[in-house]
Parts: sequence; structure tokens; C-alpha cells
Amino acid sequence: MAGMKPYPAAEKHMTPMGFPPARVENWQEKGVEKMGEMLKKYRSLQVFMDICVKCGSCTDKCHYYIGTGDPNNMPVQRAELMRKVYRRYFTPAGKILPGVVKAEEFDEKVLQEWVTYFHQCSQCRRCSVFCPYGIDTAEVTMAAREIMDSIGVGHKYSTEIIGKVHTLGNNLGIPAPALKSTLQFLEDDILDNTGHEVRLPLDEPGAEVMLVPPSADFFSEPHIQSLIGYAKVFHQAGISFTISSFASEAANFGMFIGSYDHKRKIAKRIADKARELKVKRIVVGECGHAWRVAYSFWNTLNGPFDFLDPRYPAPQHICEFTHDLLQRGALTLDKEANDPYVVTFHDSCNVARASRMGPNPGGQFEIPRELIKASCNRFVEMDEETIREKTFCCGGGGGLLTDELMDLRIKGVLPRVTALKQVMKKDGVNFLALICAICKAQFTKVLPMYKIPMETVGGVHQLVSNAIVLGAKKGIV
Ligand code: SF4
Ligand code: SF4
Repeated sequence: MAGMKPYPAAEKHMTPMGFPPARVENWQEKGVEKMGEMLKKYRSLQVFMDICVKCGSCTDKCHYYIGTGDPNNMPVQRAELMRKVYRRYFTPAGKILPGVVKAEEFDEKVLQEWVTYFHQCSQCRRCSVFCPYGIDTAEVTMAAREIMDSIGVGHKYSTEIIGKVHTLGNNLGIPAPALKSTLQFLEDDILDNTGHEVRLPLDEPGAEVMLVPPSADFFSEPHIQSLIGYAKVFHQAGISFTISSFASEAANFGMFIGSYDHKRKIAKRIADKARELKVKRIVVGECGHAWRVAYSFWNTLNGPFDFLDPRYPAPQHICEFTHDLLQRGALTLDKEANDPYVVTFHDSCNVARASRMGPNPGGQFEIPRELIKASCNRFVEMDEETIREKTFCCGGGGGLLTDELMDLRIKGVLPRVTALKQVMKKDGVNFLALICAICKAQFTKVLPMYKIPMETVGGVHQLVSNAIVLGAKKGIV
């Protein structure tokens, strides 16, 4: 996929982010300088540069390599694009005998390889599961993107989205009045469909919970069905909640571009709004990388969250929240409501390999599955080599969910499609349950290319929404 590059970020995207507006004149020198700073700052990067023994265990583990057959999409080869520059400038052998140790200058050819192949990695970490040394190529990709941004070589899709979050509070650029009318429309819709006044409040101070969903939940199908599901759960449990118009987005593309500063700023507005609204808990919706940032980094970035109720995890995943209520008897689920479906579950990579959920190890695998099984009668697993910590990326993660990379996205989904088709054929699966907004957006777009209807795709809380019995029991907090 040598010809497949993302659209470059323009001055209007780069300048507000604090990045150079265009490629700086002395970019080679600046890029190497930045790499040197990062090697000192992130010991893991230095280790990942030094310890690969080229054992080959990771070579066939990347969905983009499986889908494209391009050797540069082998994880070891992808990281080698940075290692060869590292050797040239930061190792004695590379400085003296570059040809012998395969060290290379950071020149135009290498930069174009970086632009291409560090945007053909979704930072899914699957390769690291199979590496005996735990080398995390996702971190190498993040570092490469950070170096490129520092010399004015940015990626349009991610920088544009981060700009929208800083100004309007969400990836889709939805202003507060539009959000308010959407939520009101959804409340009316739920009332018409169920006869129950289920609320979707916005900016209500003093609510128990601040819900932070991905913004796709407000507008797109099937995402919106999960939002309705969350609202029904809050309603049925009698727990007040609010959405914040300026912290209306859980996603954090700061991680995708490897920027600590942007990751922190994006996360900070959530902590600030939670304080301002005086909520006691923060619950994150169905968004894979958002949960990774929330679970793994929020405390370091903006902690401590000591203003929240210490009896609950801070933050809490919506699946963990619903699962807890279910166990405490606050919800009644009628599995028969989902009888038209034979369900399977796709573990999202950032949840599976970069976070946890609930009090027990492996909760990120078990809790969503237990919710699904409580909501439907027929659940089957895909090939065990493609689930849990070995799950394959949907092909659109890591800032690659953009149309100019569509060919890559179609090829990258191949391993997941193969496993899905097996259970569709063998077990009649017709519902792929997800807990990630990017997975939902990617699958609805690319599965039809493999003759799988987009209606096959849905959220775990879509199943909960179908099954939940409203009005049967209420009031456990
Ligand atoms: S992190 Fe994922 S996408 Fe990137 S090289 Fe590894 S397996 Fe491939
Ligand atoms: S599995 Fe690890 S050590 Fe082996 S080639 Fe891949 S990155 Fe290098």
C-alpha cells in the first residue's frame, strides 16, 4: 500500500494546535532532535528501538499485513522504519558504518515511508501480544506521528477533529443548541416507542452521574440505539445523570497523534465540567480508545478525581455500570426481545489490550459478554484466535477512519470478516455486538463491501435497550 497516504494537515489545522503551519525548512535536523528528546523522555521508546531480535513472531499478526500483503505492514518492518533512523543518529555503529548496520538518513524517502506506514497502523497493540519482548509497535507509531507533527507534517483527519473538540467539545463539531434539540427529539422518540418518559438531560448541575458518550451516539445509526439504551438504564435504576455540552465527547484523538499535551487538554475539559456540574460519578459510553485514555491515563493527566464519590470507580465504563446494576437487581431484562438475533461479540482492541473493566482481571472481556448473555438467548463466540486479547482491529482505529484510507480500511478488516463469516455460516449469526464507536462506524461502512449487511452491526447497549423492561423495578443507587 505504498501509494496510500492520509491527506496532509493544512495551516488552518496545524496552527491552532501549536504545530508548525507547514514543513519547517530544517525538518531533518528538527526531526532528529525531536527523536533524541523523545528517546530521553520515554525509556520504553529507547528500549523498543534496541531490543528487537527479529525473531519474526509478530510478522503475520497485523491485520493490515494480512489484508494488504505489504511487507512494510509487518509490525517488525514498520518499527524498522524508525529503527534505521535511530541507528544512524543515536548508535556508534550507525554513525560510523551506516551501510553495515542498515542505518539510514532521515531523508525525503524515509519521511514519505513514515507518512505512509505510520498511518497504516491503527495502534491496536495486537503485535505486542505475540512479541516475546513486549515491544509495542503502537507506541512507535505514536512517537513517529509526534515527530512528524513537530516538523509540520500533520495528518488532516486527526488534527481537524482535535481542533473541533477544543472549540466545540466534540469530534463532530456539534454546537450545544443542536445537541439540545437532538436529545429532546430522542426523548420524544423513546416516549412514543415505550410510553415512558426517559430523559436525556443536558448540562444539569447536581446530577449523580455525568455521562460522556462518543459523539456519534447523538446522530448516527446504530450508535444512537446505544445512547437510548444508556438512558433507559439510568431511568430504570432511578439514577440521575447529565450530558455536558462541552464535554459531550469521550473520544481523545490526542492519543492517536501521540501528543501528551493535546491528550491532557481534551481529557481536562471532562474533569473540569464534572467539577462544575458537581456530579458524583463519571461514566464513559461505548468508545474503545476513549475508555483506554480514561482508564489508563485520566488520573495521571488530570487527577486526582477526589471530588467524585469514592464508592465508585473513577471513571466507570457504561458496561461496568449496567452490569453492576443488573447484579444488584435494579434492572429486569427480557431476553426474548432479542430473539431475532444470534449475537457474537467483537472485542475492541483498546479495551481488550490497553485497559481493564470492573474489579477483576479480564473484566474487560467478561463484563460485556455477561451483559449480552443477560440480554439475549443466543450468543456464540468467533474463532478464539480472534477474540479477547487476540482480537483483530476493525481496521479503522488509531485515526485511520477517514475516506482517503478506505482501500486500507477494506483490506484491514479482512481477518475480522473471515472470523465473522465463519459464525454467520455455521451458527446463523446476524448481530455483531460492539462497544466502540470507531468499530461501529468502520464496520457499517466496510462490511457491506464483503456482502454483510450494515444492520448486522450494533452496540451492546442496543441489545440492553431492546431487552430492558421499563417500569418493572426502580430506585437502587
Ligand atoms: S499495533 Fe496493530 S496495526 Fe500497528 S503494527 Fe501492531 S498489529 Fe499492526
Ligand atoms: S516479535 Fe518482537 S522481537 Fe520478534 S521481530 Fe517482532 S518486534 Fe522484534
